[in-house]
Amino acid sequence: IERVVVVGGGLAAANAVQTLREEGFTGSLTVVGKEPHLPYERPPLSKSYLVGKKSAGDLPPLDQAWYDDHDVTLLTGTEATAVDTGARTVTLSTGATLEYDALLLVTGAEPRVPDLPGADAAAYLRTVEDSDRLKEAFSAGGRAVLVGGGWIGLELAAAARQAGIEVTVLEMAPMPLGNVLGEEVARYLVDLHTRNGVDVRTGVTVEGIETADGRATGVRTADGVLPADLVVVAVGAAPATALAEAAGLEIAPREKGGGIAVDNHLRTSDPHVYAAGDVANAVHTRLGPLRVEHWDNAIQQGKAVARSMLGQEVSYDWEPYFYTDQFDFGMEYVGRGSPGDDVEIRGSLESGEFVVYWLDGDTVTAGMNVNIWDVNDKLRELVGTQVNRAELTDLG
Ligand code: FAD
Repeated sequence: IERVVVVGGGLAAANAVQTLREEGFTGSLTVVGKEPHLPYERPPLSKSYLVGKKSAGDLPPLDQAWYDDHDVTLLTGTEATAVDTGARTVTLSTGATLEYDALLLVTGAEPRVPDLPGADAAAYLRTVEDSDRLKEAFSAGGRAVLVGGGWIGLELAAAARQAGIEVTVLEMAPMPLGNVLGEEVARYLVDLHTRNGVDVRTGVTVEGIETADGRATGVRTADGVLPADLVVVAVGAAPATALAEAAGLEIAPREKGGGIAVDNHLRTSDPHVYAAGDVANAVHTRLGPLRVEHWDNAIQQGKAVARSMLGQEVSYDWEPYFYTDQFDFGMEYVGRGSPGDDVEIRGSLESGEFVVYWLDGDTVTAGMNVNIWDVNDKLRELVGTQVNRAELTDLG
């Protein structure tokens, strides 16, 4: 291949182009990114950046000089509007057309907007501009109502409390993240939030967002209207597949996570087109088809897809990994547990330092270290293996 075009200017893009150059690719390399920024990392947007501990300059993994030095053309503020897989071209919002030998789609995901009255007036969080708006709203004080108690909703709740504003979290499920963490650990997390002044309400169905002059003023539930100075909806993200769909590429069914279907080499249904990161539903060697919306997945798949595009033997088998920081709860999770798995806790919840294992029979499906560090690699080694439960420890 001589011409590589990368559509989507996020973390997967940055890692893919870096690996392409590191692996000796000397052909032309163009990144098309809709946002007017260098590819950047999003996790701080709901954490350190939002509370003012990181600045915008801390977010990009590679600076402009890196792209210049490595002869990578970065077309920021530019949208790819069409892909012609027959002619192997990408049309840009500028009207220009790029030709490719290999195309990488790393278009990421976008916040889901629920089908509720007033939903457009709420705030959402995906971009640095979204985070800036929230920071400004936090500084105005008052009360925030967060719709959705997933990872981002809970991180936002922690950041809002750190900014000193009142926070209510409305979660539809009986327990935020109960499906992921299991009842006991999920309750631990809720208690942590409650102790820190977050009003966590579960089993709540939101009926609509109240608005005045186009601004969100509250959230309507069966119990009435909860007034708010800020309403943020964080109910998950949808893979940005429009371009791939229009190009006729295979899309995974929504009940399987959606996204652009790719094989274990991260190749789409077209042999010249690849996908990675949040938008990709990739066949994992151990776990089968899977779409993972995590920082580490964008890094690992970004690197793997670059090698695959260069014709190296790649069969994607990196165990999913993610982390979060909320108040004094810091954790890393590796593997993929299922709601029906058994949960084994080692160490004490009271001390705030513990390890959680998810098991399907004797097989470890996932592990999570909470405030115990430098043990995640050990957990990674256990995932997918059979263990004697009595011998599981807190690894500390
Ligand atoms: P993105 O980062 O979404 O990048 C895709 C880019 O492509 C975007 O800039 C988009 O504008 C652009 N694009 C889309 N369509 C086009 C087009 N047609 N033309 C040109 N450009 C296009 N993960 C964790 O593991 N831990 C965390 O703590 C964590 N915290 C997070 C906090 C927040 C607030 C958010 C939003 C995400 C968080 N994540 C976290 C998830 C992590 O950030 C994502 O998994 C990661 O950003 C995915 O990278 P990506 O490159 O696949 O997609």
